[in-house]
Amino acid sequence: MADLGPSVLVIGAGIIGASAAYALQKAGARVKIIDDGAEVATAASFGWINASFHHDAAHFRLRAVGLEAWDRLGRALELPIAWQGTLCWEETGAAFDAQRDQLVALGYAVEEVDAATFAALEPHVTDPPARALYFKQEASVDSIAATRTLLDGALAAGAQRLRGLRVEGVVEQGDRITGIRTQAGLLHADHVLIAAGTGSGALMAQAGAALPMVRRPALMLRTRPIRPVLTHILVSEFGELRQLADGSLLMPAAVDHQGDTAESVGDDLERTAAQVMTRLRSLLPDLPLEWEELTLAHRPVPQDGLPVLGAVRAGLHVACMHSGITLGALAGEMVAQEMLEGVSNRSGALLAPYRPERFKE
Ligand SMILES: Cc1cc2nc3c(=O)[nH]c(=O)nc-3n(C[C@H](O)[C@H](O)[C@H](O)COP(=O)(O)OP(=O)(O)OC[C@H]3O[C@@H](n4cnc5c(N)ncnc54)[C@H](O)[C@@H]3O)c2cc1C
Repeated sequence: MADLGPSVLVIGAGIIGASAAYALQKAGARVKIIDDGAEVATAASFGWINASFHHDAAHFRLRAVGLEAWDRLGRALELPIAWQGTLCWEETGAAFDAQRDQLVALGYAVEEVDAATFAALEPHVTDPPARALYFKQEASVDSIAATRTLLDGALAAGAQRLRGLRVEGVVEQGDRITGIRTQAGLLHADHVLIAAGTGSGALMAQAGAALPMVRRPALMLRTRPIRPVLTHILVSEFGELRQLADGSLLMPAAVDHQGDTAESVGDDLERTAAQVMTRLRSLLPDLPLEWEELTLAHRPVPQDGLPVLGAVRAGLHVACMHSGITLGALAGEMVAQEMLEGVSNRSGALLAPYRPERFKE
């Protein structure tokens, strides 16, 4: 009889749960994915995979390794990743130089382009910036389709899925977590992974562990499809922008979306949408642009803004983070490896700043 791998319950079917479930099942675990069917961060994401935004040098390194993990995963599975590169000019003057120099010092491939080169790269952006940073190695991914592909990959390899089930707590035996309690009964397993996005804090509390989270709502605007006009991801003083495969344009309502720390999205949706459209039109003035969809979602952001990844207590791991698209492939790979084989030199070094015990009182 074939060896049976350990059983694992993955709570959450967003990008993090899907990526972990895929990696775990492929590594020989017997995975069950449980989710409550709620609309989630992954479905509303901008989908930008980058290391140009980061909090510090360790976070930069993690994100840079995250890009490599997407490259690896994209070779194993047919994923909708576009390695299209980013053009960034959200800073000007000395701040622009500082951003460039800091990224170069970290070893990131950065090219500075002038207005003429920019115009050749993005001919539809009128008024090209005098200078922009070009990160050729960055990408975007259709986060919904990628999550679907990862879930399908896990299911095809033998995983099972339980949908529409709210997980209310964990089951303990002695010092060990041995399962979960859902609204429709218990499930038992050798390991449990909390990958529940904004729901992770409450589940950690049920397991007697702290994961303080901050409130970070975000609005994402999508236009009606237009003809292909953009090639790159644009990060400008007017906001972040990219064109999806169907021709629609995607722009977060917050200008500095990645660094946005607002706890509310305001109270006038028509006005917010109009402001986003004004910014969009200042980049692409001559196009028939109309907004079609405005989506509200909550970003899963731990209190210090950094990812939370690793063992919580015997039988329990957690993976919760913003920039979960950038880090999705790596988080799944690493958490699966640590759950099944333990901490390696590589994961120990990369993930040391992100362990959940930093929130212990
Ligand atoms: C508007 C917006 C733009 C973003 N842009 C980017 C970007 O460009 N690049 C980037 O890297 N990141 C971006 N992010 C962040 C990124 O999308 C998230 O970090 C990532 O999607 C989180 O994935 P997740 O799987 O952890 O959580 P989610 O996608 O929220 O999934 C959580 C899962 O847990 C389930 N769940 C929760 N609680 C329970 C419970 N008690 N019982 C059962 N199931 C439960 C939910 O049903 C769901 O399946 C953005 C986020 C937002 C909102």
